[in-house]
Amino acid sequence: MIKQEALYSGKAKTVYKTDDPEKLIMEFRNSLTAFDGKKKSEAPKKGYYNARISQTLFKLLEENGIKTHFNSMLSDTEMVVDAVEIVKIEVIVRNIAAGSLTKKYPFKTGEKLDPPIIIFDYKSDEFGDPMINDDMALAMGLATKAELAEIRKLSLKINSILIEYLAERNLLLPDFKLEFGRRKGKIVLADEISCDTCRFWDMTTGESLDKDVFRFDKGDLVAAYREVAKRIVPGIKL
Ligand code: 5GP
Repeated sequence: MIKQEALYSGKAKTVYKTDDPEKLIMEFRNSLTAFDGKKKSEAPKKGYYNARISQTLFKLLEENGIKTHFNSMLSDTEMVVDAVEIVKIEVIVRNIAAGSLTKKYPFKTGEKLDPPIIIFDYKSDEFGDPMINDDMALAMGLATKAELAEIRKLSLKINSILIEYLAERNLLLPDFKLEFGRRKGKIVLADEISCDTCRFWDMTTGESLDKDVFRFDKGDLVAAYREVAKRIVPGIKL
């Protein structure tokens, strides 16, 4: 496979074309941003830890019957993925109240949400990822009714699989963000599942082991990501 020009460069990842139109290369970079890009930094090995965490969780989900865009690792920070048409909806799954939910609504941080709450955001930097509902998604032509139902069903299944795997590693999953794509008429999981897109809390101490360490200056970001990688990725070289 031959890596070609960059197709898209986001805040933490760059996606490259390849000589195979069906395959892309997703590179996990060490850069990170928060608060709509207002806060920026670089963290050594962040791309490596996020790539390996994503790889492990995509494989876990595949083993449990969830179709993802993951193919293989090209290097420690580069993932070969299927080319998909991204659905412009960010799906947030919440199990424990944290973050924006506690700022905008009367939930207390740490409050258990049972059943989990699924939120759809319109994936748009221009509009600041506003929350939408099914009617808005349909009106904007983001997805069909059947696709929305499928995305909801898959998100709940992914949530259950991840909660169980993480609990065995003494981690709580308060919330996380998923993105889906269309491939050959089917909805598949795309993007990444990492410390940038999930909240991970140590089950014993409640300590944040995710991007909140950067967002809210809670300590050593690389140490937090390394700890998650150590618990999640079997045999990882730290
Ligand atoms: P919140 O709404 O509290 O800011 O985020 C909820 C969850 O979704 C967190 O785990 C957060 O990391 C993830 N999330 C929501 N929007 C984004 C986004 O635009 N980018 C990333 N990386 N994660 C997001």
